Amino acid sequence: MKPLSSAIALTLIVAAAAPLWAHGNYEHVRGVVTVINSTSMSVELQDKKTRTLTITAKSTFEKSGEPAQIKDLKVGERVVIEVPKGTAEARIVRFGPPKKGK
Ligand SMILES: [Zn+2]
Repeated sequence: MKPLSSAIALTLIVAAAAPLWAHGNYEHVRGVVTVINSTSMSVELQDKKTRTLTITAKSTFEKSGEPAQIKDLKVGERVVIEVPKGTAEARIVRFGPPKKGK
């Protein structure tokens, strides 16, 4: 049983890490929103560091896979943000629980 369970654990780790590499031109920033306003947002990362990202006219918001607006996003919400590499721009901000049956 031991080798099998460690193989499963490894698979889960790889699956969890895979989205990090899903987009060559985007970096994923994951964390919890600590500050949000019309021009910027701050996210506390897992390592307790804070990333501040700008919100621009190109920024889009998705709640549980559906189009949303900045006003739907609240402090304390878990987010995954697509940030174009080399920028501090929140391009796509995803939050909300995943939809069932997807
Ligand atoms: Zn992505």
